[in-house]
Amino acid sequence: MIATGPVNRPRSASQRRPYNSWPIILDHFTGLIIKFPTVNHPTQGQFVVNTKFLVDATGRQANICRKVGVPSSKLDRLIGVGAFIQFEDKATLPHDQLLETVESGWWYSALLPDNILTIVFFSDSDIIAKHHLNKNDNWNRLLLETKHMKQRVRSATALDSKPWVRNASTRISNLPECRNFLAIGDAAASFDPISSMGIGFAMTSALQAARIIQEELAEHHPQRVPHYQQEIGQHFEHYLQLRKRFYQQEKRWPSADFWVRRN
Ligand SMILES: Cc1cc2nc3c(=O)[nH]c(=O)nc-3n(C[C@H](O)[C@H](O)[C@H](O)COP(=O)(O)OP(=O)(O)OC[C@H]3O[C@@H](n4cnc5c(N)ncnc54)[C@H](O)[C@@H]3O)c2cc1C
Repeated sequence: MIATGPVNRPRSASQRRPYNSWPIILDHFTGLIIKFPTVNHPTQGQFVVNTKFLVDATGRQANICRKVGVPSSKLDRLIGVGAFIQFEDKATLPHDQLLETVESGWWYSALLPDNILTIVFFSDSDIIAKHHLNKNDNWNRLLLETKHMKQRVRSATALDSKPWVRNASTRISNLPECRNFLAIGDAAASFDPISSMGIGFAMTSALQAARIIQEELAEHHPQRVPHYQQEIGQHFEHYLQLRKRFYQQEKRWPSADFWVRRN
């Protein structure tokens, strides 16, 4: 993906719009990355990278997209507050996944290798903040109010001193139609974990991107990248409908903020 070679001549500053934030400059008109300046490596020192193609694979943070100035649409404020827990009893645990809805969100647990269980509470960031649900006591209290989840974690010990917090929002990068820059996985589109679409999408979009890059470099098919972006847009639309269908199944709390926002 990264190749050495001459850097295309930069356009004048007035022509570099709108994706011109430092340090990567994307030419809005031709879609070429025109400059990739000096990189400071912790052990190798400074070097310059020239590249024919750039892929953002930095996950939900979409670091490259943000540096280039690509706009994105964020559709919710879902976050996961979770813990890894271990059981004293070494008996093998069932490999099923459990999802339980509550008034302010939903709980999820799944078994990982070494008899470690991940247990996560998903809700919107404002609800988490309002009830301080990232704090041990409050998170535990909410867990004890569940019917099924609390049974699953009996006699277990948390591996961390406090719950961790992860962004789990629904978001899509609105990439410009350019020939040699694309994003894969969460950097391109990130999904509510209720859909279980994230890992599958990360893998398929990476495979598709690799094929496109190979073809672009070998034969130059300028329509491939825009087509890839369109497909991501369609996939995302399909996902939004799926997400709605999932959430609409829960009818018990029609006036609770978390469910009102999703129904
Ligand atoms: C709590 C939670 C539960 C989930 N559960 C599921 C599930 O059950 N099923 C499912 O399919 N999906 C699930 N997902 C989503 C899934 O984890 C992601 O969709 C998937 O990991 C995306 O893969 P990725 O490679 O695009 O990004 P990531 O896995 O986030 O990988 C990106 C990598 O880039 C690195 N990076 C970032 N910035 C830079 C930089 N500037 N330089 C170098 N490296 C950088 C990061 O350190 C990271 O290693 C869940 C997500 C969350 C938050």
